[in-house]
Amino acid sequence: MNKVNWKFDNTYSKLSKSFRELIKPTPVHNPKVLIFNHKLAEDLNLDFSKLNDEELSNIFSGNDLPKDTITLAQAYAGHQFGHFTMLGDGRAVLLGEHLDAKKNRYDIQLKGSGRTSFSRGGDGRAALGPMLREYLISEAVHALKIPTTRSLAVVKTGEKVVRENLLEGAILTRIASSHIRVGTFQYISATQNIENLNTLLEYTINRHYPELKSSKCKAYDLLNLVIERQCSLVIDWMRVGFIHGVMNTDNMSISGETIDYGPCAFMDHYDPKTVFSSIDKFGRYAFSNQPAITKWNLARFAECLIPLIDKNEETALKLATDLIDNFQNIYEDKYLNMMRNKLGLFGEDINDKKLINNLFEWMKKNNADYTNTFCNLMDINFNEVYKNKDFVDWKNEWKKRSELNNSKKFEQSKLMKANNPVVIPRNHKVEEALSAADKGSLDKMKKLLNILKNPYYNQNNIEEYQSPALLSNEKYQTFCGT
Ligand code: AMP
Ligand code: MG
Repeated sequence: MNKVNWKFDNTYSKLSKSFRELIKPTPVHNPKVLIFNHKLAEDLNLDFSKLNDEELSNIFSGNDLPKDTITLAQAYAGHQFGHFTMLGDGRAVLLGEHLDAKKNRYDIQLKGSGRTSFSRGGDGRAALGPMLREYLISEAVHALKIPTTRSLAVVKTGEKVVRENLLEGAILTRIASSHIRVGTFQYISATQNIENLNTLLEYTINRHYPELKSSKCKAYDLLNLVIERQCSLVIDWMRVGFIHGVMNTDNMSISGETIDYGPCAFMDHYDPKTVFSSIDKFGRYAFSNQPAITKWNLARFAECLIPLIDKNEETALKLATDLIDNFQNIYEDKYLNMMRNKLGLFGEDINDKKLINNLFEWMKKNNADYTNTFCNLMDINFNEVYKNKDFVDWKNEWKKRSELNNSKKFEQSKLMKANNPVVIPRNHKVEEALSAADKGSLDKMKKLLNILKNPYYNQNNIEEYQSPALLSNEKYQTFCGT
């Protein structure tokens, strides 16, 4: 009986062995659902209301497999901090692809589900803190209207995982429009099997870019569209001050969704060099480096597609290089428009770039909070720093510019409200919620999640969620999701 209404159709499992290993999750001792995303379940047309807690816990730990699943670990490779490695799902299992009421297709993946042939030295497991962190931040990014994988549930396994200390083990159920990564193409490309490469290309187009089904040069057109989507994604991150933290090519999804929430965090005071990840010693994935890294990753993607772009390698290289070189132009255009939206500016003015750069310079010099500076422009935050004369002068310039193009005050306000969050997952609030969860209480985590559901709406009594942590000497650090 299918009480839940699962509709599995497992196309990835039908690809050849080179793409995946058929493997089941390793059962866990004593699973318990800690957090469950009812709204997401509803959106997926899944109904868990007839299941008791034990049944739910068994499903989301992988102890019970729904009928029609064909579980597997996906093969992929990746440039990690610039170094190429053959990887694959070392601690995740895909249950399959579920179709919602509108036949949209979603990967249902258990992360932390045990060892696979791709585990290398790892234990195949995940710790509770990082899985709750992924749940929280991915749902916050979704609410910010940025494409992302989602989180359906976190289960405590009842088993310990060995890291620097003994930690509570957990499994996250991740929902993605697919888990095809730049690294998936790199893996198949590294095996030098052109037939498989073509299969992956066709599969990706069918799943994500059906408009290319009858294209004359699918590989070229796919590269073009992926460049476009990744560019839009990174612009969205820059808009809200999101720092992914580990933009390795295995963590870049071909669908254009944000994927793999490890050491990610939101920037508080504006500094383009901001890095939170403890392992990012040289700032490769710093805030302002994200566009350049996106381009670098896209170049690795382009390399995989060369044999399919043109039979003549030189021609293919030239075509791909031209597309990649154009990234900068697409980015700069989109970026400028995104910043105009944040500032509520209609039309274009020759001095827009300068106006924007002056604001950034002021923010940097005065340690101003990125999010709250735009809130001040929306008459929301009145921190002392915004009384600063240079800022007041800048604001006057901005007001003058706002009056061009006959825009009305309410139109400007509407545009700004749609582009500037008034609340983001503040690092100290995330840590506070996770630390309470570690001690057994999820109340703070649930409250934070609830506030972050409406990031563009100025809710009452949320000031403590809007203030940055005090500037302290101790730098905030995040750790990889291990
Ligand atoms: P990530 O840092 O989560 O993007 O993971 C990078 C690679 O390491 C992927 O292939 C993961 O599957 C693998 N990995 C991470 N943690 C573990 C673990 N505890 N056991 C096995 N593989 C892991
Ligand atoms: Mg990863």
